[in-house]
Amino acid sequence: MIDLCELAPQYVKTIAPYQPGKPMSELQRELGLSKIVKLASNENPLGPSPLALEAIHRALPDLALYPDGNGFELKTSLAEMHQLELSNIVLGNGSNDVLELIARAFLSPDTEAIYSQYAFAVYPLVTQAVGAKGKVVPAKDYGHDLEAIAQSVSEKTRVVFIANPNNPTGHFIAGDEIKAFLQKIPKNVLVVLDEAYTEYLDDQLTYNAIDWLNHFDNLIVTRSFSKAYGLAGLRVGCGFAHQDVIALINRVRQPFNVNQLALVAAEAALHDKDFLDKTRAINQAGLLQLENACRTFDLSFIPSVGNFLAIKIGDNALEVYQQLLKRGVIVRPIANYHMPNYLRVSVGLPEENSFFIDQLRIVLQH
Ligand SMILES: *Cc1c(COP(=O)(O)O)cnc(C)c1O
Repeated sequence: MIDLCELAPQYVKTIAPYQPGKPMSELQRELGLSKIVKLASNENPLGPSPLALEAIHRALPDLALYPDGNGFELKTSLAEMHQLELSNIVLGNGSNDVLELIARAFLSPDTEAIYSQYAFAVYPLVTQAVGAKGKVVPAKDYGHDLEAIAQSVSEKTRVVFIANPNNPTGHFIAGDEIKAFLQKIPKNVLVVLDEAYTEYLDDQLTYNAIDWLNHFDNLIVTRSFSKAYGLAGLRVGCGFAHQDVIALINRVRQPFNVNQLALVAAEAALHDKDFLDKTRAINQAGLLQLENACRTFDLSFIPSVGNFLAIKIGDNALEVYQQLLKRGVIVRPIANYHMPNYLRVSVGLPEENSFFIDQLRIVLQH
């Protein structure tokens, strides 16, 4: 490492790089395959919401102008939808941006953040990037152990990250359990409830954490437009919290952190009920399709309520991943989550799922 990099903070140098899903264009370049199916990044297989595309077309002529740094229109729609004030909402360049802003606003080198084993990889990244300590609480059956998390809160804890449903496990915690957990957390600890997949929950599981903001000043709920709304490439997400929490986060936010196309597309997608319904239906069918294939192949999996399934392949998981790549299927190895025996497979269109299942059958020689 050149000297100037050597002099960078130790906590930056020790961050493990994020490992994204392999882009289709990269696999195409490497292997020249004609057919590639990517089930690696939990993207919406239906593409973007059509209403979002229309809004983008309308906004194109204005691209010479800076975006609305306050995101007035999108925030107004979100506020109406959730009966909040605009001052309760922060927008991000993806919800990852919101997670990072939370870390920058609330963490520092002498504080700590808590998250579960097998929780979303961005929590350790944003925690370490500001030099704070990450405290990992062992999971229970691949899910968050809320009791243990509550007990591990110390005087140094400023933030607790909870993903519900969690990625990469797909594990879900019932709303009333989360609410009971919030009662146990000291008021000076911010609880981040990351609901990137909440739109996929079926009616019996759905709860409304945004309603709880009335009772918990130390809660922030984050949502994403990358998954069910199909806008991962645009980067837009949001957070809902007490206005003081939002105001503090805004201090460290870039003035124009969300681009104009993302703002108008998200606003339009929010009203695209047909697209959300279709997304949910295709996801439910696809999850079943993947689960049934696992049963046929005698593979166990972690029950998931998201748009992906963590499948236990065995100690040859990386080999299976590579064989699938050669056959044009990109899934996600999750050894970086300390789950080296698993592959995470996103739910695709029925024919994409079938293609994956067919290739897996060949690779496993069933
Ligand atoms: C995909 C994902 C996000 C969303 O990230 P964006 O930055 O909004 O694309 C957030 N949290 C979890 C747990 C996720 O899996």
